[in-house]
Amino acid sequence: MAKIADLFIRSEHADLMKKLNAWDIAYHQNDAPVVDDATYDTAKNRVLEIETEYPELAVNGFSTHVGAAVSDKFKSYPHKIPMLSISDVFNESELSDWFNKLPDKNVFIELKVDGLSFAARYENGIFVRGLTRGSGIMGEDITENLKTISDIPQKLSGNFPDVLEVRGEVYMARADFIALNEMSVKKFANPRNAAAGSLRQLNPKITASRKLSAFGYTYGELSDRTWQTQSEYFDKLESWGFKTTKQWAKRAASVSGIQAIYNDIMLHRDEIPFDIDGLVIKVDSVDVQEKMGSRANSPRWEIAYKFPAARGITKLNDITIQVGRTGVLTPVAELEPINIGGVVVSRATLHNADEIARLNVRIGDKVIVQRAGDVIPQIVGVAENGENTVPFVFPDACPVCGGAVVQENGAVARRCVNSLSCPAQIRGELEHFVSRHAFDIEGLGEKQIELFTRMGWIKQAADIFTLIEKHGDEMRVLDGFGDKSVSNLADSIEKARNVDLYRLIYAIGIPDVGEVTAKILAKEFKSLDKLRGASVERLTQIDGIGEIMAREIVSFFADFHAMSALDNLLKQINVKNPEVIIVENSLLNGKRVVLTGTLVKYTRDEAKEILERFGAKPQSSVSAKTDIVIAGESAGSKLTDAQKLGITIWSEDDFEKAIK
Ligand code: ZN
Repeated sequence: MAKIADLFIRSEHADLMKKLNAWDIAYHQNDAPVVDDATYDTAKNRVLEIETEYPELAVNGFSTHVGAAVSDKFKSYPHKIPMLSISDVFNESELSDWFNKLPDKNVFIELKVDGLSFAARYENGIFVRGLTRGSGIMGEDITENLKTISDIPQKLSGNFPDVLEVRGEVYMARADFIALNEMSVKKFANPRNAAAGSLRQLNPKITASRKLSAFGYTYGELSDRTWQTQSEYFDKLESWGFKTTKQWAKRAASVSGIQAIYNDIMLHRDEIPFDIDGLVIKVDSVDVQEKMGSRANSPRWEIAYKFPAARGITKLNDITIQVGRTGVLTPVAELEPINIGGVVVSRATLHNADEIARLNVRIGDKVIVQRAGDVIPQIVGVAENGENTVPFVFPDACPVCGGAVVQENGAVARRCVNSLSCPAQIRGELEHFVSRHAFDIEGLGEKQIELFTRMGWIKQAADIFTLIEKHGDEMRVLDGFGDKSVSNLADSIEKARNVDLYRLIYAIGIPDVGEVTAKILAKEFKSLDKLRGASVERLTQIDGIGEIMAREIVSFFADFHAMSALDNLLKQINVKNPEVIIVENSLLNGKRVVLTGTLVKYTRDEAKEILERFGAKPQSSVSAKTDIVIAGESAGSKLTDAQKLGITIWSEDDFEKAIK
């Protein structure tokens, strides 16, 4: 017989439900989580435990609720079939508890992509409506936003049911996340927040400007089913034009088999180009799935095997100041070491003085630390205030060289003014220069740079290329260096002498120019000389280059010291300029093409790149010499001009056909 809950249990339950609801709203509606996953899961598990013991509390409890309520920002519609959540397990014994009850042990294992769920409804193969998960019962209408994501087909190919609701996940690949944060003023904490913030936009144009991707993985309403297993469904999805995580998917039939796959994927998760937070394990046979059915809010035939939380709470022992290559002083949180997702974290970035003030974080506090993908761990909030703490006072002198610290007009960052003599800045520039995405010189890391600059062997980048010749003999007798390591270093320096233009542009350390911008500049100018001669006006014509960045670039190339160092460097290296690889026999070969309006599937940059690859010459304005105008949505005066001049006009579909 079910037990009746007493007052204490009732109030504990109500209290936890209130917290969980608030956390859900912060996570699902505001895309800004306020507690770490482990805290959330502890509260959730306690509530579920109470509800199992006292079923009366489950009626309005967590067991019967799915996700958060829908926000009133969007129109909402009911899901024809509720979008249930998936129960989580966190270790092998919880996994076995679930697995041992399965009537059929053949399971399909797929990645649990860390993004936002969507439901896309197709009628006769045409995309008609897209919803978020929302409350699981009601979803927010994001049809127009989903239309801007090229991974979500507007029209299905092949054979499909008359009515089909594909469910899946919208996400942002890590590289696209890093590029977005590099280019935009608003910085997102992780790819999931960036994807959520980009998708849940009232203006679909903003969604279109962000690079979102999507995978399909399951289905909702269906007029008929022609597949027997989840594995087959993935093949169907691909035949309709969806992307899936098939390349990483696996099958297993035992707990040890699942565990081995889990360990392997967790170990290699950084090699997967997007963030995942675990695996989803499903009974492969759909007939068995249907027989097993669901609990109140989650199916019995599938489970999410989560990776350890990527957030944790630990004590902030100290705040130190790091001086970077551009002289910026960055406050670094020195933490009581904590294991987050399998990695021990003892330092995290606090970004700048404003961030310390915003978080009101003080030495001695317990803080929430987050680790996401390739991003440096960061402090996202205070979990508990320490005793007798005082606000952090930002230093007014450089802790490395003692130089003055200035805060430029309007800038958040404070920097050390001694750009030519501050050892921290020189070391930082050299470390950047040899780093993986720049010259990628193996065997020349932080430690070696520290040593060689202290010895006076390297003062600027060019010195690296004469290092062995001038100091090889002295180096061989240093502790930790022998013939072998000196000759290895010599080899990797020689290899680095031949360098791609974009790596050079990135390596020389123009303020604000990261790898993405460097690639844009290399592609646009195709030689360093042309880039050096470019004006602010010329630079701002390039998509992705704003006025501030254009000014930084021009003033960098006008700096005497930077230029003499660059000329010294150029004497030592061979720069490989990019070539345009042209697809032969294309309809577009040699054609002058103007793009106007908004294309649904491509950004302006992508379309331009494709045009170049197909041998066309993209131009910015329409003239009598223009061969083709490609007109997207809401094309304006360029289209009218083209019509007047009788120029061939292509729709986006025509463009797509030409590049197939
Ligand atoms: Zn300094």
